Amino acid sequence: MRTITLSNGETVEVDCLSCALTSGKVEPEGGVIAETEHFHAHQDVAYPIRGLVIVASKRHIKGLDELTEEEQPDYITFIAKIRKAQREVLGIESVYYFYNEDTTHHFHLWMVPRYDWMYQFGRSVESVRPVLLHARKNEKDHTNVLESIRMLTEVLNE
Ligand SMILES: [Zn+2]
Repeated sequence: MRTITLSNGETVEVDCLSCALTSGKVEPEGGVIAETEHFHAHQDVAYPIRGLVIVASKRHIKGLDELTEEEQPDYITFIAKIRKAQREVLGIESVYYFYNEDTTHHFHLWMVPRYDWMYQFGRSVESVRPVLLHARKNEKDHTNVLESIRMLTEVLNE
């Protein structure tokens, strides 16, 4: 079991954070952005960046090669749909995709939009962590990010 501190300050004990989120045991701040039969999208508001989306599988798996033949097309279609919404609703021109298999929870993809202010931290993978920490440190007001979640949720559930 791990103790997770939620963005509202509450703590919960979970075996796997992704399982807790995709099953509805833990409600992400801002709510579920969209779901398919096999995947679940939400934002981690602990890193308050407009348009940042996390896509998690509903099954507890670690590796891309564990996706079934049915899950594989669902995954790419879902990501493309989210990417299109990021572009159309939030004007996001570029996204970094970050996914690691040695995670403490399960299969999930970070879709991290690139904004001009991020280039002060570099322009490749090494800039992602400083960018996330910078947002967490400097963006204490979540109004802006909650608004972007609502906008994505709306367009993805039309
Ligand atoms: Zn899990």
